[in-house]
Amino acid sequence: MLHLIVCIKWVPSTQSVPIDRRTGTLVREGMPGIVNPPDLNALELALRIKDEHGADVTAISMGPPSARAGLEYAVGMGVDRGFLLSDKVFAGADTLATSYTLAKFIERQRYDLLLFGQETTDSSTGHIGAQVASWLGIPFLYYVTDVVVQGDHLIVTRILEDVRERYRIGMPAAISVAMKSNAPREVKLANKIKARRKGVISIMSNEDLGLDISCVGLRGSPTRVSRIDIVPTVPRKRKIFRGCPDEAAKWLVDRLEEEGLI
Ligand SMILES: Cc1cc2nc3c(=O)[nH]c(=O)nc-3n(C[C@H](O)[C@H](O)[C@H](O)COP(=O)(O)OP(=O)(O)OC[C@H]3O[C@@H](n4cnc5c(N)ncnc54)[C@H](O)[C@@H]3O)c2cc1C
Repeated sequence: MLHLIVCIKWVPSTQSVPIDRRTGTLVREGMPGIVNPPDLNALELALRIKDEHGADVTAISMGPPSARAGLEYAVGMGVDRGFLLSDKVFAGADTLATSYTLAKFIERQRYDLLLFGQETTDSSTGHIGAQVASWLGIPFLYYVTDVVVQGDHLIVTRILEDVRERYRIGMPAAISVAMKSNAPREVKLANKIKARRKGVISIMSNEDLGLDISCVGLRGSPTRVSRIDIVPTVPRKRKIFRGCPDEAAKWLVDRLEEEGLI
């Protein structure tokens, strides 16, 4: 049976997250949260593989205790179990320390395919999937929309701006799932009840992982926010012209003449 691991992040459900001016880190405590929306697309793709081929699906999240709710949501969708990596020493991690912690936990699990969301709504670097794959020394593909299992290989489809590409890759491998592909299914009540059962969701501290604390959290993060500026939004000066190309070209030339640019 295939073993799939989906990494999901618990993110604030609002864009206005305060910043700690001293450390330059986001203050997320007490913020209402949701599962990072692109991660729902990754969960859905994993569950489609499970529906078609049979698979064991695990969701993993690194975050504060409140992130347990995200794993409960994933189990509600149909994931078999969840692990929350949660410890004060993991706090303040940049992408290097986050991916290191995830990879160190994942390397002890059984996995054929790792699935990530395309990016998060609160930091949106899109680094984590590639970094975890790099720590584990496995291939990684971005913007995946579909996976077909063919024996011990996967046929993976990904969509770039105007190109559809198809790859045949071995396992284990890692992918990030294209945003808005694989519309997520609803949570089922029976699964939600299962999520509350003992042993379905496990909380792992650094005592369980045994990682060197200089490699995790803020101490293991080489990047620092040195300055924070609020960028003012520049209002649009003109309307977007909608019409036939000839009219649009004339309209543009008139405006450029008006501005003295031609
Ligand atoms: C200098 C610096 C300081 C920071 N300080 C803090 C801080 O104090 N507190 C804080 O919370 N954040 C902090 N961050 C943000 C933190 O580094 C990122 O939230 C984290 O590394 C994940 O990066 P991302 O959100 O850009 O994920 P992306 O790379 O955009 O995520 C891609 C995918 O990876 C997976 N993924 C991402 N994060 C997780 C996770 N935690 N668990 C499971 N899967 C995941 C998901 O599938 C996601 O869709 C800081 C970042 C920087 C650069």
